[in-house]
Amino acid sequence: MADWPISGFPVHPATDAAAGAGAGAGAPASLIDPFGREVSYLRVSVTDRCDFRCVYCMAEDMTFLPKREVLSLEELDRLCSAFIDKGVRKLRLTGGEPLVRKNIMSLFRSLGRHLDTGALDELTVTTNGSQLARYAQELYDCGVRRVNVSMDTLDEEKFKRITRWGDLPKVMAGLEAARAAGLQCKINAVALKGVNEDEIEGMMAWAHGEGYDLTLIETMPLGEIDGDRTDQYLPLSQVRARLMDRYTLEDIPYKTGGPARYVTVKETGGRMGFITPMTHNFCESCNRVRVTCTGMLYMCLGQDDSADLRAPLRASEGNELLNQAIDEAIGRKPKGHDFIIDRRSKTPAVGRHMSVTGG
Ligand code: SAM
Ligand code: SF4
Repeated sequence: MADWPISGFPVHPATDAAAGAGAGAGAPASLIDPFGREVSYLRVSVTDRCDFRCVYCMAEDMTFLPKREVLSLEELDRLCSAFIDKGVRKLRLTGGEPLVRKNIMSLFRSLGRHLDTGALDELTVTTNGSQLARYAQELYDCGVRRVNVSMDTLDEEKFKRITRWGDLPKVMAGLEAARAAGLQCKINAVALKGVNEDEIEGMMAWAHGEGYDLTLIETMPLGEIDGDRTDQYLPLSQVRARLMDRYTLEDIPYKTGGPARYVTVKETGGRMGFITPMTHNFCESCNRVRVTCTGMLYMCLGQDDSADLRAPLRASEGNELLNQAIDEAIGRKPKGHDFIIDRRSKTPAVGRHMSVTGG
C-alpha cells in the first residue's frame, strides 16, 4: 500500500477530547484520527436487507440479521446526532437498501433538523432506486438534495442478471421522480469484467445526456458471494485508458466528500468519477467512518476492527458512554486498507458484505 506524508503530529483521542471540551460552548468537537485526518463524514447502514441481490454484493440466499439486533430508528437518530455533535458535517444513509426499511422517512425527517440548525451540511442517501419513485418528493422535503443511484447497465435483461431481482424500468421511473422533485442524482456503476465493460461509453453518454454524473467503482473483496471475484474484477486504470483513446478526460479538483476522483469529459461536457480502492489507494484523504444497522462502528471499510456502539447507546439515556466509545474508536482508525483480488487470495479481505457495512 502506498505511503503518504502524515500531516501534523499524531493526535491522541484523549487530547482530542480535551480539545473538544476546551472549545467554546456549542462548537462541535472535531474527531481527529491518529494520522491527523478529520472525520467529518458518517455513513450509516440502516438495514442489511435489500430487495435486490446484486451478484458482486450478496449471495442469492442471504441470512439477514434478526430484528432485535438492529437499532431502532430512534436509536439510529441518537447515534447520528452524537456524531453530528462531534463535528460530522455530512451524513449518508445507505444499506442494504435504505428505502426498504419500514418507516425510514421518519428517520430522514428527524435528521433533517440538523440541516435546519446548520450543524449538518448534507444529508444524502445511496439507493438502488427501486423505491425512489415513491419517496423522491419526501426525501426532498426532508432536506435531501443529492442522491446516489446505483445502476450497472442500461440493458434490461442484463440488469436482471446483475441484480437478480431488480427491474430497470422501475429504477428509471425513480430517476424521473427524483428529477421532478428537484433531487440531483449521481449514477454509481460497479465496473464488471465481461459484463458491463462494453457499455461504459454508452452509459456515460446516457448519464451525461441526462445531466447526471457517472461514477465507476472497482469491485472490492467484501463478503462471500456465489462465484469468483477474480472473474468480475476490472481495473479502472484499464477503463480510463480505453476511454482516453476516444475522449478527452481532464482531471478536476471537484470533490463530493467521498473517495471519487473526477474528470470532465470534453466531448460530453459531463463529469465522470472513478472510485479505485484496488488500483489507487485513496486512504490518505479518508474522512469517513461507517456504522452498521446493529451499531457497529467500522473505522475502515477494508479492515475488521470495529467498536460496538449499541451497548453504550443502550446502557444509559445520556450520551457519555457513547461519546467515550466513539472517541476511543476514532483513536484507532487505521491508516488504510490493503485490498487484493487475485487467484491466490480466494477469501475476501473482510468477511462482511458491503450491504452490512454500507457503501
Ligand atoms: N442498496 C444501495 C445501492 O445499491 O445503492 C445501497 C447499498 S450498496 C451496498 C452501496 C454501493 O456499494 C452500490 O453502489 C453497490 O454497487 C456497491 N457495492 C456493493 N458491493 C460492492 C463490492 N463488493 N465492491 C464494490 N462496490 C460494491
Ligand atoms: Fe442491494 Fe445495493 Fe447490495 Fe445491490 S448493491 S444487493 S442493491 S445492497
